[in-house]
Amino acid sequence: MCRHLAYLGPPAPLRSLLTDPPHSLYRQAWAPRRQRHGTVNADGFGIGWYADGDPVPARYRRAVPIWGDPSLPDLARVTRSGAVLAAVRSATEGSALGEAAAAPFGGGPWLFSHNGRLDGWPAAAAGLAPGAATLLSMDAMVDSAFLWALVFERLRAGQPMGTALAGTIGAVEAGGGTGRFNFLVTDGHSIAATACGDTLWYRADGESVVVASEPFDDEPGWAAVPDRHLLTASALETSVRPLTDSDVSTEGILT
Ligand code: GLN
Repeated sequence: MCRHLAYLGPPAPLRSLLTDPPHSLYRQAWAPRRQRHGTVNADGFGIGWYADGDPVPARYRRAVPIWGDPSLPDLARVTRSGAVLAAVRSATEGSALGEAAAAPFGGGPWLFSHNGRLDGWPAAAAGLAPGAATLLSMDAMVDSAFLWALVFERLRAGQPMGTALAGTIGAVEAGGGTGRFNFLVTDGHSIAATACGDTLWYRADGESVVVASEPFDDEPGWAAVPDRHLLTASALETSVRPLTDSDVSTEGILT
């Protein structure tokens, strides 16, 4: 399983989120503390962030472990942003390697990461009967890109981010899909995330919020999101609710 993180708040240097904290994503790449599946996250990493006045984020993704990228320290030192989503990857067997298979996946104003797996990938995807448009929009042959394509369809159809995440899990499960579906998505203004098979935490102080697979320090304020719950957050407020039967989509997988 991978580890991921999103931040909304006053502009902050990337390094204050990704490399400076004692248990940052950087360290979680080789020494995660709460990861339930897998031990290292060395199959690449990615960072997405937003610049003022531009709704479409930048992405920087690499196939090397986060500790093996000589360009990252400079980038993380001088780049500041008020909206960031980043991940370190432990590739699921049967999935593609390389930069294009590393989160964050993106489209329009959104950034997305998946911590988990679709069991039986890639055969399981066929059973979910996605349309050609969905499959053609995939960045790489990885279960997470497939799940992102399903979420993206819903976002493009106008669904709120939380609805799109919950509806995708509902539709995948209604179609017989099993796995672990910790999703994280942002549009630069809000975050939606699911705890569905692995750990999810958040820390909010009324001015900023961090949502992460696990706490990146031992300071107070971190709260765990219970399994099978949906978190939605802006910089100012956060809410958590259970995933319910009504999240099981009636229209099935959108294509
Ligand atoms: N299944 C995804 C991948 O292969 C995510 C893996 C994970 O959470 N470790 O990249």
